[in-house]
Amino acid sequence: MLYNEEDFLSISGIQHFVFCRRQWALIHIEQQWDENIYTVDGKIFHNNAHNGMQKEVRGNIIITRGLPVFSRELGINGICDVVEFKRDPDGINLFGTDGKWQPVPIEYKVGKPKEDDCDALQLLAQAVCLEEMLSCDIKKGYLFYGNTRHRTEIVFSDELRKRLSDITNEMHEYYKRSRTPNVKKTKRCKNCSIRDLCLPDMMKYSSAKKYMQNRIMEMENESD
Ligand code: SF4
Repeated sequence: MLYNEEDFLSISGIQHFVFCRRQWALIHIEQQWDENIYTVDGKIFHNNAHNGMQKEVRGNIIITRGLPVFSRELGINGICDVVEFKRDPDGINLFGTDGKWQPVPIEYKVGKPKEDDCDALQLLAQAVCLEEMLSCDIKKGYLFYGNTRHRTEIVFSDELRKRLSDITNEMHEYYKRSRTPNVKKTKRCKNCSIRDLCLPDMMKYSSAKKYMQNRIMEMENESD
């Protein structure tokens, strides 16, 4: 099955979905959003990585920044921070250039490598889009982290590709049914950017009234 453009879901949502299904649904289905220090830092870092689409040639590498991409097969779209096209006899033709070129996506991330595979999945999603748009195979890409300031190679294994396909299918299922999952409180809630919209602690209380009474008490204690 191929998705139509109006059904595309944002590639950037994959990290939200892997972090917490409910967070993704609140942001991407219910269109709610809140900023915390991690998301603000991330935006500034990304804006430095690309600001509109740009192209630069450095020797045997063509560097593009802010390249829009999509995949009809996965039903996703987004923007690649950086795609390097390296001169390679086994690569592809690029309009307006001589020779052949191999695309390599590079995603910029604030902070350090995470415990889960959300960044690798996001990078692979970009690679799958490029493969579909340019009719090519991409075996690897790189994640660049602001804290470590070096590139981590990500090999696009069959296992990672299957996981991406399962995740995007699941995202489309949730989206089709406009379903926001219930709160499932985990240690991640502490750093969640939309904690104040999700109200994970509310589940402890038998009613919204009891929750509000407790919050007012907490706020009064904080201001003492
Ligand atoms: S607060 Fe917790 S349950 Fe709620 S969206 Fe964030 S991570 Fe998910």
